[in-house]
Amino acid sequence: MNVYDSDRMTDVLAPLGYAPVASADGADMVILNTCHIREKASEKVFSELGRLRIMKDKARDQQGRDVTIAVAGCVAQAEGEEITRRAPWVDIVVGPQTYHRLPELVSQIDPAARQRAVDTEFPEEVKFDQLPGEHAPRGPAAFLSVQEGCDKFCAFCVVPYTRGAEFSRPVDGVMTEARRLVASGTRELTLLGQNVNAYHGEAADGASWSLARLIRELAEIDGLDRIRYTTSHPLDMEDDLITAHRDVPSLMPYLHLPVQAGSDRILAAMNRRHTHDVYLRILDKLRAAREDIAFSGDFIVGFPGESDRDFADTLALVDRVGYASAYSFKYSPRPGTPAAASEEQVPEDVKSDRLEALQQVINAQQFAFNKQTEGRTLDVLVERAGGRDGQMAGRSPYMQAVNLTGDESMIGRILPCRITEARQNSVIGAAA
Ligand code: SAH
Ligand code: SF4
Repeated sequence: MNVYDSDRMTDVLAPLGYAPVASADGADMVILNTCHIREKASEKVFSELGRLRIMKDKARDQQGRDVTIAVAGCVAQAEGEEITRRAPWVDIVVGPQTYHRLPELVSQIDPAARQRAVDTEFPEEVKFDQLPGEHAPRGPAAFLSVQEGCDKFCAFCVVPYTRGAEFSRPVDGVMTEARRLVASGTRELTLLGQNVNAYHGEAADGASWSLARLIRELAEIDGLDRIRYTTSHPLDMEDDLITAHRDVPSLMPYLHLPVQAGSDRILAAMNRRHTHDVYLRILDKLRAAREDIAFSGDFIVGFPGESDRDFADTLALVDRVGYASAYSFKYSPRPGTPAAASEEQVPEDVKSDRLEALQQVINAQQFAFNKQTEGRTLDVLVERAGGRDGQMAGRSPYMQAVNLTGDESMIGRILPCRITEARQNSVIGAAA
């Protein structure tokens, strides 16, 4: 979502004459779009700001040039005051719900006089209504935000506090943006939301549309060949969304469905509001709807109170599912969340051991998944030039990164590719 927001910030600033550049060196403005989900992510902001201060001072001292430094995103939202205190050289602090006001904020500041602007409101107006309709092409695979915020309040998570209450964009705005993206060359859309399957956007006739309904409508857009969505909560995995996986060919057979833990005791303490069995039954239903669907998930190890036995339940669940990929994290206490106040914090070394053990299993599953695609022919959407000369990079329907030999004329095409070799994080393919 931060990638999407960053792109939208460049759209907002384009009428002022700003255009994105590849590196911060020489830029007139640097915006750090930040993440607050784990402590490591937010601490990075302050070390990055230290580097930017040196850059800013140098530009002023050596070139007489002012560089505007802005901090956007959830760290700005949650720690705006601390940012202005610890890093007074920051000119703009703007939260995720107010970045459409960037032009106004830019006009309010005076870097030379250290006059800055801070906007971390949860405004009345809807950001999406204020964002420009026009935007630069986003490439063959693009993101489209349809839902923001969260009302679930998992005990470990800052999202409900930083991104605010759940909000679904009305259908019309989503459809218009989707059509515009497709007209500019996009062939794959990933619908975004912190809790995207809780989507309940208002349609023109006042009806409330589910994510499944929205997907069915998007699937009608000529030239939109692939649809994905992320991130979903198991409790919102309604039957109509599951059947969309059966009925809508452009809905890709890959789903990121975080479960966080395999122990029912820990799931309850996390306030996830479902058991491990409910989760497994949802995956069964999805497999029944779309036989080849591949799964990915998120896991937290070392949530307060997690015992060796609870952790063994997580390993057992992973074993039963067989993920195509998965993300795992050490529990990170976040300010203001209930779990951070728990007295049953798990020692750091235990968390590290569990993370390593879990990642070993996940890595093995990911490699096994890649391996079973060897020899098969999969459709690959070619997205960009790859790392090496003569190499192109794209994605299979199962989200695998595919490297293939070719040239830039392939970009934006969906090509059948024979998978010749599986690697840990990617596969090698040859256009068939
Ligand atoms: N809305 C999604 C996830 C949003 S946050 C969901 O409900 O699943 C993305 C991931 O970050 C989460 O799935 C979780 O695994 C991880 N995460 C969130 N808060 C965390 C914390 N305090 N410590 C460690 N990992 C965390
Ligand atoms: Fe955070 Fe996701 Fe839980 Fe919402 S549902 S509180 S975003 S982990």
